[in-house]
Amino acid sequence: MSDEPSIPVSPDHEAEIPESHPRYESLLTRHRIEHGVDIGITSRQGLIAQGRGEAYDYLLGERTLDSADAAARAAAAHFLLADHPVVSVNGNVAALVPGEVVELAEATGADIEVNLFNRTDERMERIAAHLREHGATEVKGLTADGRIPGLDHARAKVDADGIGSADVVLVPLEDGDRAEALAAMGKTEIVVDLNPLSRSARAAAVPVVDNIIRAVPNITRHARELADAAPAELRDIVDAFDAEAALADAERAIREGGEAE
Ligand code: ATP
Ligand code: MG
Repeated sequence: MSDEPSIPVSPDHEAEIPESHPRYESLLTRHRIEHGVDIGITSRQGLIAQGRGEAYDYLLGERTLDSADAAARAAAAHFLLADHPVVSVNGNVAALVPGEVVELAEATGADIEVNLFNRTDERMERIAAHLREHGATEVKGLTADGRIPGLDHARAKVDADGIGSADVVLVPLEDGDRAEALAAMGKTEIVVDLNPLSRSARAAAVPVVDNIIRAVPNITRHARELADAAPAELRDIVDAFDAEAALADAERAIREGGEAE
């Protein structure tokens, strides 16, 4: 179906996918990723990562599990408690949720930093420009004067005043090695990843096992709702969240379908 020439690739034509289509969200997501590749912000490997994500989303029922919603709430509480929260953006994230990332950063006072597995200066610049087109005022990642210890040179680059000095980092769709290295630096790591078995999800203090197109707006919604909450209430939300239980619930949902009792 996706090869049909009548299905447009540009988000300008997203309206042409009928919302009544049973797999509307999935088709929309594919078109955004394709468009991301066309305009040079998403790598071709990003298409493969998307396919992997889609498979898990299908198995999870293409919905937000209650356990993923609890994770999103814990993520929001972490962001609001943080001294220096940062949202890390790669080519898939930029293609799928650019405006939503900007809204999350605004709701929580977080920095936005471009961080690529397959880093090229051209793609870094294009993603930064794309985010600015979607309302970002400052985009970090281009200075690259900091390093994540334990990774090879190209993969280790971060901004010293961005991810380098962050206490809480949201890393959606992150590669397992970097997720583990960031956690080893002592940062509180929030991962969005549809695969509950992924090393990235397992390394996270808060694994949000949900599609990024649902997860990011959901974290923002929780952050807005908790904007006036006292620090003690936020800490209670953080403490009550159980990462292993959330991962186990996602695995259970894949095996059994349906919500937990
Ligand atoms: P590792 O075990 O090292 O983490 P990996 O296979 O997960 O390996 P990547 O391909 O870099 O490594 O990760 C892509 C991850 O992103 C996959 O786990 C995939 O499920 C997830 N993913 C892809 N698209 C989405 C999406 N739209 N929303 C949420 N997660 C997604
Ligand atoms: Mg992974």
